[in-house]
Amino acid sequence: MRALARKSLLIGLKCRSCGAIYPPEKMQVCTKCLEPVDPVYDLDAFSTSKEEILRRPRGLWRYAELLPIEDLTNVVDIGAGFTPLTKAENLSRELGSRLYIKNDGTNPTGSFKDRPAGVAISKAREWGDKVVGAASTGNLAASVAAYAAKAGLKCYIFAPASTEIGKVSQTLVYGARIILVDGTYDEANRMAHIASEELGWNIVNVTTRPYYAEGSKTLAYEVAEQLGWRLPDHIVVPTASGSLLYALHRGINELVALGLVEEKEVKLHAAQAAGCAPIANSFKKGLDRVEPVEHPNTIARGLAIGDPGDGDVALKVVRERGGRAEAVTDDEILNGINLLAKHEGIFTEPAGGVVVATTRRLIEEGYIGRDEEVVLLITATGLKTMELIERREEQIIRIKPTISDLLKVRDVA
Ligand SMILES: *Cc1c(COP(=O)(O)O)cnc(C)c1O
Ligand SMILES: [Zn+2]
Repeated sequence: MRALARKSLLIGLKCRSCGAIYPPEKMQVCTKCLEPVDPVYDLDAFSTSKEEILRRPRGLWRYAELLPIEDLTNVVDIGAGFTPLTKAENLSRELGSRLYIKNDGTNPTGSFKDRPAGVAISKAREWGDKVVGAASTGNLAASVAAYAAKAGLKCYIFAPASTEIGKVSQTLVYGARIILVDGTYDEANRMAHIASEELGWNIVNVTTRPYYAEGSKTLAYEVAEQLGWRLPDHIVVPTASGSLLYALHRGINELVALGLVEEKEVKLHAAQAAGCAPIANSFKKGLDRVEPVEHPNTIARGLAIGDPGDGDVALKVVRERGGRAEAVTDDEILNGINLLAKHEGIFTEPAGGVVVATTRRLIEEGYIGRDEEVVLLITATGLKTMELIERREEQIIRIKPTISDLLKVRDVA
């Protein structure tokens, strides 16, 4: 009986610009003004209690009313979501403020992309699509490939040829085909758009675009629930296309509208790498429209999107919520990775290093107060980008398998 109560409250798609409402079908943009459309839900019909939510499985579908899958038998589940939120006491001592880590590197494929991909592939199944795909800087590739494997769908991934080897291998192991495009993410994405139109493939970040980002909202729901149905003062968000940041904004608004949390000004900060910081640069210049970066150049390849699809709306949300958009250098990113590993025992890819480094800067510059609560979104594991970690010979001790060699270790240590 309880499963029946969990029914999507999706009622339509709404144009971000003119507000026109459409039925929740396979469409990407408003037919009048060509601007993106976002799902809308009948929040007045939400009658689920907190107790009921707490009884549900700890995963992506815990808040199924607020996700756009109409028939839950179409859900493809690889066990994503409900990742740990931990108090980062050591890092707080180092940087200041009251820091929490939301560790989305613990998702099945090691990144937060298991959230949007989970919704996208479930939607593809709802539509009866046979071929799925994505344009990706690497993490979405692995997620879509994993879900496609579980759902028994053919999968084609478009990625820049410079994508990290770990992410390419991971995509291949799930059985997907990967099309490496000799160019930037934006060029790979252009190819993916054409494949969606000309070949009819369900390219999740194109074909399923309005639905796909809904999966990312679950990060906001989980953070609130894990804090005891409260919102933090700040969330530091690694930002590429801006999709995650905008999804968090919508998720927070829904929580408040449903009365699940008290209203609060949660500042969302966009964290970018200096080598590809279209949103942070445009923020500092006071622009309303994001100026693209033509040639991204950063170790944070997962965030290297020069022409962010949701950049304008991300910029608007950051400002509306009183947040900042910052860019940190590759050295700061590596330092961020090391800080998180050394102080919290959590190993992240560069995107997480961007978040730690940005948080440090925002605290130093006074944008985050010493007593305020901050959630750092650590969106992927460092196991995906092992080649970035220098080999630390000074930490390695080599011995022969003898007692005398072993006892010498004491003197070295
Ligand atoms: C995709 C991704 C993000 C956020 O990207 P958006 O395109 O802004 O939604 C953040 N961190 C990692 C590791 C990612 O893969
Ligand atoms: Zn419109």
